[in-house]
Amino acid sequence: MIREVNYNGTIIKYNLTTKRVKNINLRIKPDCTVEVSANYRVSKKYIDSFVIKKGDFILKAFEEFNKKTSVQKAPKYSEDEFRTYVFDKFTDTYNLFTEYKIKKPQLKFRKMKSRWGSCNYVKFIITINTNLIYCTKEQIDYVLIHEFSHLIVPNHSKDFYNIVSHYCPEYKRIKKEMAGILI
Ligand SMILES: [Zn+2]
Repeated sequence: MIREVNYNGTIIKYNLTTKRVKNINLRIKPDCTVEVSANYRVSKKYIDSFVIKKGDFILKAFEEFNKKTSVQKAPKYSEDEFRTYVFDKFTDTYNLFTEYKIKKPQLKFRKMKSRWGSCNYVKFIITINTNLIYCTKEQIDYVLIHEFSHLIVPNHSKDFYNIVSHYCPEYKRIKKEMAGILI
């Protein structure tokens, strides 16, 4: 059973199997999938909180595994190409959201460790991780849509993902492909 938790804004997915084990076992595979086995008596809520507690450990392990896959470490664009693409796409994405009548947020770039983007919906600032230079355009587009959607719904509720899926119907697959790439 695939479950997901939110660790400081990063969604961590894990595959839960119930077994006759004593406590909870967590294993991270080199392909950055997280396997958790737990006794069937342990509540899902407890297992989620267990995974969240291990969040830092999991993200560090992803980072380690990804260091070993050099392909993902090669930038896909020059610095200029990357910034130009993000700037243009930022405006395009803003235009997609016209029905919400929001003012145009400010765009910032920052190297971030555990998230691809962040949104300050009070100050109207969207920050994009410069590590997206390693990602495909489709992945960059998704991050922009994700962050713009936070201007409408600040959390990761169902309402939030309804907006994301409206503008990016393939978001589940893209998110999955991004999980664990160089963060
Ligand atoms: Zn988010």
